[in-house]
Amino acid sequence: MKVLKFGGSSVGSAERVDQVINILIERYINKKQRIAVVFSAFQGVTDKLIEVGKLAFKRRVDYKTELEKLIDLHYDAAFKLNPVNKHGQIADLLEPLFDELKEVTHGVYLVKELSPRTLDYIVSFGEVLSCSIISLTMQNRGIDCEFLNAGRVIKTDDNFGNASVDFKLTNASIVKYFGKHKKLQIVTGFVATTIHGEIATLGRGGSDFTASILGAALNAELIEIWTDVDGILTADPRKVKNAFSLPSVTYEEAMELSHFGAKVIYPPTMLPALQKKIKIVIKNTFNPDFAGTYILEKEKSAKLIVKGISSIDEISLIRVQGGGMVGVTGIAARLLGALAKHNINIILITQASSEHSICLAIPPKLGEISKKAIEDEFKLEMFEGKIGEVKVEENLSIIAVVGENMRHTPGISGKVFQSLGKGKINIIAIAQGSSELNISLVINKNDLAKALNTLHKAVMTKQNHSSS
Ligand code: ASP
Ligand code: MG
Repeated sequence: MKVLKFGGSSVGSAERVDQVINILIERYINKKQRIAVVFSAFQGVTDKLIEVGKLAFKRRVDYKTELEKLIDLHYDAAFKLNPVNKHGQIADLLEPLFDELKEVTHGVYLVKELSPRTLDYIVSFGEVLSCSIISLTMQNRGIDCEFLNAGRVIKTDDNFGNASVDFKLTNASIVKYFGKHKKLQIVTGFVATTIHGEIATLGRGGSDFTASILGAALNAELIEIWTDVDGILTADPRKVKNAFSLPSVTYEEAMELSHFGAKVIYPPTMLPALQKKIKIVIKNTFNPDFAGTYILEKEKSAKLIVKGISSIDEISLIRVQGGGMVGVTGIAARLLGALAKHNINIILITQASSEHSICLAIPPKLGEISKKAIEDEFKLEMFEGKIGEVKVEENLSIIAVVGENMRHTPGISGKVFQSLGKGKINIIAIAQGSSELNISLVINKNDLAKALNTLHKAVMTKQNHSSS
């Protein structure tokens, strides 16, 4: 069994859906492969549904116009995908769904209430609609398939909008359901139900998670995530023109790479698959012959040492220093605590062993708030001169050089620094955890494009790693 997932951009129009159905027929169904297929809502639909809900909540009557547009979009796609003599059947399928959607949004309009629970109910229609239309279209083309609302099998708590899965219940009901239903299942991504039977969702982008949950529960041989790019690349191709697709990465590398650059897969969604050591491959709907990037637990023959170079375009850096910090315990805890209190996320931390200064990278434009938070926390120490003024630097970027095999390979950081030095790019801060999976460098934002290209050339050129 393979579990396939097609995201919103793969089902952006009737033509795209048609293309996906052809991929399914040619590559799987004709070859008698056992698959289950998860779909996202049609492109942009989840956002639109949220907008409709919010407009209704604000008592803006134009929510109805927006809703009508959504309804038309779905009819339009469904009609294009099916012959005219099936249009009645399509209306029979979709009308009750749209009636329900109209009722719930009207309810929001009347009572001016849009709880996360109600919003989940509204957005769940995106996947229910896309999958209803796709499964009907496939049936009309003679494919023996069935629609499955994943809410029947994926059970969560009632943290609406981002519900947590009850894996014990979920795994058991998936196994049971698939044991009884042998036909090809067309499964709604993103949608779940609480243990009390209310509709919930798994958080934005949750369809990958659905695929991973199904794959893990069914012990799938492979989970295929079909997206709109050639898998995971060595760098962002918009910034590095020589970037190329990676044949494979480890789970950890995928996490590091997607944390920064191209978000082809949202790391936490891989967890169920990771725990069961199920392989994931990222494929491209627009280039189905591309072999894909495999995400594996371990790589047997990893030829590439560095797997990618990614970046965060803009960050701010905060420096706290002073003689009073040396050998004193609790300073870092208070420092991080002060920022946590203000919900400021810390991206990178460095402290040299002299303990004389600590450097923190934080999201852009939060420099001044952070400075204030830290100065409040260390008022006394600053008054006594043990800690100096907190320095903030803006307009910086972080570059991360990622690869699990850097751990066993001396000389990589040498290459990294040498190439940047030759390119006259100043490095402002450096961090490398002892996992040695990621070397992170803070540089001036102006240097970013040049630094990425220089580094990519130095450590990432294809000839360095020939075939893999
Ligand atoms: N449709 C949902 C979203 O846009 C889930 C998904 O596409 O993965 O977030
Ligand atoms: Mg989406």
